[in-house]
Amino acid sequence: MDPIRTIPQPSPADTEDAPEVLEALVRTAADAGASDLHLQTGAEGVEVTWRLDGVLVPAGHLDRDLGGRVVGRVKYLARLRTYQDALPQDGRIAASDLAVTGDVRVATYPTVTGEKVVLRLFRETTASVLEDLGLSAPALATLQRALLQPLGMILFTGPAGSGKSTTVHACLRRLRDAGGRHVITVEDPVEQVLPGIMQTEVNVARGLSYPAAVRHLLRQDPQVLMLGEIRDDETAGLVVRAAMTGHLVISTLHAGSCRGVLERLLLMERDHFAVASALTLVLNQRLVRKSCGACGAAGCAACRGTGYRGRIPLVEVLEMDDTVRSDLRAGRAGQPVVSPTLAESGAWMVATGRTTAAELGRVLGT
Ligand SMILES: [Zn+2]
Repeated sequence: MDPIRTIPQPSPADTEDAPEVLEALVRTAADAGASDLHLQTGAEGVEVTWRLDGVLVPAGHLDRDLGGRVVGRVKYLARLRTYQDALPQDGRIAASDLAVTGDVRVATYPTVTGEKVVLRLFRETTASVLEDLGLSAPALATLQRALLQPLGMILFTGPAGSGKSTTVHACLRRLRDAGGRHVITVEDPVEQVLPGIMQTEVNVARGLSYPAAVRHLLRQDPQVLMLGEIRDDETAGLVVRAAMTGHLVISTLHAGSCRGVLERLLLMERDHFAVASALTLVLNQRLVRKSCGACGAAGCAACRGTGYRGRIPLVEVLEMDDTVRSDLRAGRAGQPVVSPTLAESGAWMVATGRTTAAELGRVLGT
């Protein structure tokens, strides 16, 4: 089924007033559950697109005059230079300015046909409890076991937009609710505020980089340290050492697979004995669209004809064992046994009706 053709076109408020039109566009997108609202300026006006369950779908058209004023309004609210359209700009619109529940992050970029504006809608996520993420029972049990450890390092990987931060935040909630441990985060930026957790943001412009933040925060006596991302060798060295000295470290590392995480970590931290003793668990994640509960992926009004509603994580898990540790100590990734693999998790999700074989093929490229 083609999700694009069956998406109903939202009609902006029956007005030419740019502030009202923008509010209507954002509200409709947020109500539909879209994560992003794209405005692409072209010769014919502004094309409106939503990212809905990870897929871009057309969502309307504004003529040149109104479209230009709406884009100008976005830039004004985000405190960007409204006359500047030749260079990219980033900003944020306060939730109250658009009458939505969360702040809206704005990014502009010049294209050959005109300015492209992306509004990232921060939504209050509901499925934030670990058990509600939709992980298979074995994957969930393994993750919970690693979270119970007093020390070690749990690393999440997967492409941008693969839901890593949702899983990480669910882990943080679990640790907070279990109590007894001081949880500190360093994020870039904080996307979800978690009461009861000390959340901080890096600020490179002011000299607070990830390594600097980690050094200072380790003196704040955390038992759990969550880092948005391990990006450089210095940070990798610091968190490996923290994980060996009584801290539970949770972070993400960019790699395509669990084995890729091992390879990258060995390159970033030359002390391979330290890597071998620090690492506990690697979880590689994708997001797949969830079959609509109302129609079983046939397409109905509830899922806007797409057959899907919401997304669920597809994971593969690598738990450290003696073989992996001995390979790591020797400075190699070896052939670690990943269980379950993405394919195994996917087969389980299709067999249990959580998603479809077609959706799995789309995500895994098979
Ligand atoms: Zn449906």
